[in-house]
Amino acid sequence: MTNERDVITIGSIIGGCADFSGETFPVYNKYNGELLAHVHKASREVVERAVGNALHTFKTNTLSPAERSGILSKAARMLQERKEQFAASLVKEVGRTIKDCRVEIDRAVTTFTIAAEEAKRITGHCVPIAGQPGNENRLSFTIRVPVGVVCAITPFNNPINLTAHKIAPAIAAGNATVLKPAELTPISVMLLVEVLQEAGLPPGFLNVVNGFGHETGQYLLEDDRINMYTFTGSLRVGKHIKQSTGIRKVTLELGSNSPNIIHRDAGPLDEIAQLSALRGFTTANGQACTSVQRLYVHKDIHDEITAKMVQFASTLKVGNPEESDTDIGPLISGKEAARIEAWVNEAVAEGAQILCGGKRDGSFYQPTIVTNVKPDMKIMCQELFGPVINIVPYDDIDWVFEQTNRSEYGLQVGIFTNDLQLAMRAAHELEAGGVNINDVSSFRSDIMPYGGIKNSGLGKEGPRYAIEEMTDERIVNIKM
Ligand code: NAD
Repeated sequence: MTNERDVITIGSIIGGCADFSGETFPVYNKYNGELLAHVHKASREVVERAVGNALHTFKTNTLSPAERSGILSKAARMLQERKEQFAASLVKEVGRTIKDCRVEIDRAVTTFTIAAEEAKRITGHCVPIAGQPGNENRLSFTIRVPVGVVCAITPFNNPINLTAHKIAPAIAAGNATVLKPAELTPISVMLLVEVLQEAGLPPGFLNVVNGFGHETGQYLLEDDRINMYTFTGSLRVGKHIKQSTGIRKVTLELGSNSPNIIHRDAGPLDEIAQLSALRGFTTANGQACTSVQRLYVHKDIHDEITAKMVQFASTLKVGNPEESDTDIGPLISGKEAARIEAWVNEAVAEGAQILCGGKRDGSFYQPTIVTNVKPDMKIMCQELFGPVINIVPYDDIDWVFEQTNRSEYGLQVGIFTNDLQLAMRAAHELEAGGVNINDVSSFRSDIMPYGGIKNSGLGKEGPRYAIEEMTDERIVNIKM
């Protein structure tokens, strides 16, 4: 990274060295439009060198589990120390509030810390082969070996923690990585690369190529020296990656339109309404894959919950994300805000009713609560990815389970109830990678297995589970 006045220039990182070849593209402050960086696009030749360097590093340089763990814990400590620097960089390039950005850094510290612990306990298991007649003189066990070169492709919305969820387990597992950050938010992650280098990660274990998906991303998909792709982003791109990578390993963390249920016995309602209005659909300006999009509320408590949510949502401060009391900043672009506005307006034309919000100003969109919605409206059945929630009253719990599952997605769901039987029924019947009981769908702890089913994804994250994805289980048979 070089600094020309306040505008920085970012290149690719290959074997620890910056490469400033090729054309540049600009990255702007999402709040005020100021130019933040010129970023060099990695050409096919640069991508090939980055992958070649990762492969060479993987083949010629081995780090012991204790060494990997030491590097990851040191990186966690350094990230904690530099929290304000990271948060200040994130807030500008993403537009999420400074409060959110600080939480993201805290979470990334946790992700690195957990990965450091997991690096020391990667193991296979014994296979009871001698129990099979004819195999009495055999001993079998499995070991986990690193896959080799991992390619990590990340989205714009959580540039540090989502990257941490890919590179920390890749390092813990002993792989070498080539990372392609989102073109809209490639700046803060370069600070993370610096941290890892200073924490002692040898050059070549983490290479970075910047650029657009259809160019730099596509070159990565076409390089068959890469053994595994770990991707977070949209369903459209996820499908393309799966189709392009043949029988190589892939994990996909994709989108959703998360359903949440508030049953009539749930409580306290104040707390639930506040949680649904705050963490539920406005954290990260609603640009979170687990954001509450469809909220089914039992008719006995529907009016009370709705009124409280409207009241909470109306008190949220929309504005400059760098101010510490701001709750909602700009969306990633004016184009995205206009898309959300168009979807809401289309629903209104089809009979939906806006209870609060519904107004756009450039790339800002007010926190919006919509009712009178129908299942086939775009705002209900597609991924909205903005600060909009749809509230649907219900009477029949079977109907609501059916509606909840009526989605191509299945990432996380939330259900509020004090009925243990209903909670356990939800755990078994709701189609998702995770069921949060008495919490919103957007609750995620960085230690847990995380990932969707249906069109929400393939494979799991969370350091321990990502390490499983990023290693091959090899059987070893000994004839004695
Ligand atoms: P996106 O799919 O547009 O882009 C993600 C990444 O893919 C970017 O780095 C982009 O450059 C790259 N890419 C695009 N085309 C490519 C191609 N042809 N080949 C290779 N790479 C390519 O997603 P986005 O708009 O940055 O992020 C929003 C999406 O991410 C939403 O759908 C959201 O739900 C999803 N998301 C999911 C999770 C999760 O954990 N499940 C978390 C955050 C975001």
